Amino acid sequence: MHRTGSRPAPREDPQRIETRGARRGASAAAVLRAVLDHGPIARSTIARRTGLSPALVTGHSAELTKLGFLRELPEVAGPKVVGRPHVPVDLDTGRHVLGSLHIAVHHATVALLDVRGHILASHEEPHQSLDPQRILSRAAGILLELLDRHAPDREPLGLGMATGGWVDRASGVVVEHPLLGWHDVPARELLAGHTGLTVAVDSHSRALVNAERLLGHARARASVVQLFTGNVVDAAFATGDTVHHGPRSAAGAVAHLPIEGGDEPCPCGRTGCLQAMVSEQTVARRAGEQGITTTGSFPELLTEAKTGNPRAIQLLVDRVRLIGQASALLLDVLNPEILVVVDQSVSQVPACLPALRDEVQLRSRICEDAPRTVVSTSFPGSELATSGGAVLLDRLFQDPLSPLS
Ligand SMILES: [Zn+2]
Repeated sequence: MHRTGSRPAPREDPQRIETRGARRGASAAAVLRAVLDHGPIARSTIARRTGLSPALVTGHSAELTKLGFLRELPEVAGPKVVGRPHVPVDLDTGRHVLGSLHIAVHHATVALLDVRGHILASHEEPHQSLDPQRILSRAAGILLELLDRHAPDREPLGLGMATGGWVDRASGVVVEHPLLGWHDVPARELLAGHTGLTVAVDSHSRALVNAERLLGHARARASVVQLFTGNVVDAAFATGDTVHHGPRSAAGAVAHLPIEGGDEPCPCGRTGCLQAMVSEQTVARRAGEQGITTTGSFPELLTEAKTGNPRAIQLLVDRVRLIGQASALLLDVLNPEILVVVDQSVSQVPACLPALRDEVQLRSRICEDAPRTVVSTSFPGSELATSGGAVLLDRLFQDPLSPLS
């Protein structure tokens, strides 16, 4: 019934509502991250660690439990307390599943992850052609099969996709991936169409930086530079909770950094660019030319080095010294707490990491302790399977109340 003369309810400023929502999301994220780092953990301890009020922690815990991200562990013996703050909570790794897709130069990696970033299933699919439509639709089909087979009772949170080259997170477009010949590929839209899932897209380097910050080296949370040296060579940088994207997400393009004494021609027209010099395909070709391998493939070179072939080891050590040049430059420009190198030889061939650190120590003007500063990836062998899912994990741990909005 309408009463004349009644005043309309005061309307709240939408910006204030938004700010309050963001604050709620941030405090819920602090609770979820405390559980990620220290779970199982009592709510009273979460309150102490995060500085949030016990009531707020209890409220967020209840909400995150309802959303399926947290679970209460069986009550330990002790006096009953209102709100049961001493009942430990932990991540609920059984309810959700995250789709993960990485597109490399020669193959796609499709995987399923839980909310702790553990890989539940993984599949590698060689590219039949480089046509983006075909690659993405095939990958989407594999993902749906994996979900069916390995996670029929889990709730999919979405699909994260990562690849090298220039990826614009905001528009979900692979702007340019020269080695695949991709230009302006609307990956998010295509994958969402094929899977019916919410899709988030980012560069593999930025995705792996997020994975390091959440699940890997603790010091990466202060500041981190990561250099990825596969067939694609690129970098990513983060301080605190912020991974730098820059306009159109173009940050991290170090492929054409000049390398001292570099003699390898680069498709850009110059010689001695970093990617041309150190890419896996360049070093694999050289190994073939020098008779170190018979197939001229990078996996064969890696196997030779791992089984002690001194010429294979030397070729890879010479290559990581070039990676060391670029690493020292990035360290001096950005002065991060740690520099993470994602490289198969660095994580698998024992001589490579010391050689890399030695080169950084020789060249850097500020690095005082290369063994402490220069580290290998926390995800050896599972970088690719982890990277796509890490795009989603980052969203989840930034704002668990609306991770994919
Ligand atoms: Zn170049």
